Amino acid sequence: MAMNRVYMDANATTPLLPEVLAAMRPWFEEKFGNPSSIHFNGQQARSAVDHARESVAGMLSCRPAEVVFTSGGTEGDNLALFGILRAGGVLQPGDHLITSSVEHDAVLHAAQHLRDHGIEVTFLPVSSDGVVDPGDVRRALSAKTKLISVMMANNETGVLQPVSEIGKIAQEADVYFHTDAVQAAAKIPLDVKAIGCDLLTLSGHKIHAPLGTGALYVRRGTQIEPLFFGGLHERHRRAGTENLPGIVGLGKAADLAVAALEAGIPAKIAALRDRLEARILENVDEAGVNGGGAPRVCNTSSMWFDHVEGEALVIALDLKGLAVSGGSACQSGATEPSHVMLAMGLSEERARSCVRFSLLKSTTDDDVEFAASLVPGTVARLRDLSPVYAKNVAVSADGGESHGRK
Ligand code: PLP
Repeated sequence: MAMNRVYMDANATTPLLPEVLAAMRPWFEEKFGNPSSIHFNGQQARSAVDHARESVAGMLSCRPAEVVFTSGGTEGDNLALFGILRAGGVLQPGDHLITSSVEHDAVLHAAQHLRDHGIEVTFLPVSSDGVVDPGDVRRALSAKTKLISVMMANNETGVLQPVSEIGKIAQEADVYFHTDAVQAAAKIPLDVKAIGCDLLTLSGHKIHAPLGTGALYVRRGTQIEPLFFGGLHERHRRAGTENLPGIVGLGKAADLAVAALEAGIPAKIAALRDRLEARILENVDEAGVNGGGAPRVCNTSSMWFDHVEGEALVIALDLKGLAVSGGSACQSGATEPSHVMLAMGLSEERARSCVRFSLLKSTTDDDVEFAASLVPGTVARLRDLSPVYAKNVAVSADGGESHGRK
């Protein structure tokens, strides 16, 4: 009999929805065309791209012309940062970028590169729950600040940042504001005006569209320097023949995401996520939730399990049929503890013990039951194998102390 397999790694990627595949399929089969061609095939292709652009604009409450199709979140983040800081063609040493210490590597590494090339960069700290203080943003502003980039929802913890407050600060200071909404999209409604951002990044494969698709919202009037040089596609903001089937898929996924939000799916997922956390905490001592005290997106739970290696737990759970992730999926293979957990003040040891459960909108009660029943025994077995844990238990037994939940 096939093993029961449950996927709880939606923040790494999501499966293509059948409706998305159905929308894309004609563009792999009977239909084709280059949207820049003026003949029938080209017009058909152009109209499909325009339609998808309207769908993405609908998801963001912006104008279709403000949507730039990209190859994903990494490109969108890079286009936002380099596009603003290289406006006019060259970096101006001394220009200032404000970002946070918990950004995804797509922003963090771009910011580090910019810093290495003469841009002043402030990496804002976060609270123990992983939240940026808007007061810190205000205090970091200088006459040279050109851009603020603070993510909407963290990929590891799901913690939401106070982006609307930051947007107001940016507007008052007349500074551009970019937010990476890759992990917020399809989990909370997005309205670029309410956020007050000039740039916002989306990634297709996190919202059931294909890998290698995405979009960057660029507010009308915002001058960005392109990353690529070539044709005049996407109103000079992103050269290259459009990924037509991918863009059609992204448009369909955006429509479905809006419908799912309107149908109240996030509340259902949040209830499942909360039950999973409660069940695990009931049965596992010395464990906790990262960012549990902060507002979070509905589907994400990052948990620490003292005296356990997160990666070992991920592998052990996978062998039993549960797919989760140790911290950020983009870092798997690396032994460094997550920069997000360290920024939140976790010790290196605790940071290494973290596991992320991220639910799909199709996650069921049974899936949660399955995960909740696997985790306690698996953690206990790994702790039994840990010499450090065995020593701690012996010490606390001698001292008459028990392992309380911290
Ligand atoms: N930003 C965040 C918050 C992410 O979680 C990710 C992917 O995990 C990215 C950016 C990069 O997106 P992509 O995989 O589409 O390049």
